[in-house]
Amino acid sequence: MDLKQFVTIVEDWPKEGVRFKDITTLMDNGEAYSYATDQIVEYAKEKQIDLVVGPEARGFIIGCPVAYALKVGFAPVRKEGKLPRETVKVDYGLEYGKDVLTIHKDAIKPGQRVLITDDLLATGGTIEATIKLVEELGGIVAGCAFLIELSYLDGREKLNGYDMLRLMEY
Ligand code: AMP
Repeated sequence: MDLKQFVTIVEDWPKEGVRFKDITTLMDNGEAYSYATDQIVEYAKEKQIDLVVGPEARGFIIGCPVAYALKVGFAPVRKEGKLPRETVKVDYGLEYGKDVLTIHKDAIKPGQRVLITDDLLATGGTIEATIKLVEELGGIVAGCAFLIELSYLDGREKLNGYDMLRLMEY
């Protein structure tokens, strides 16, 4: 299936110069959303994962159906102040801003094989920060899965040494 036909490109959003890849039109189509999910599920099976971890909010949209299909857990990575219990945190940079990401301290058991999911790899700041959180808790990053890679931003360099799957490239 050609998934790109379901992605809507929004020019100059959220600010001038950004070509925003809107995946809500992909999620809105049941066949496209389940096809994309199935691709990631197959990848996760190969990697023998124990847990899915995804950064808010679109990392949840990709990761939760994968976790459900594999009957493994899902642990959310969220912006500072959103998780109610003890967390570990990391600072990170975005294509359009800066922020802090957190995860519950007990979300990952040491040695668990983790799949990290997000909708899109841009500069790689978000995935790099998420990898740091997983490893700080003793998790093994078995793979990273994205719907989209913006290859002109070289985010892949931040994934050096980590396995990754992406379903579309721009
Ligand atoms: P980065 O940390 O730079 O790799 O940015 C990745 C995060 O920012 C992803 O979670 C995306 O949801 C979002 N993002 C960055 N650039 C874009 C874009 N051009 N279109 C859609 N989402 C984007």
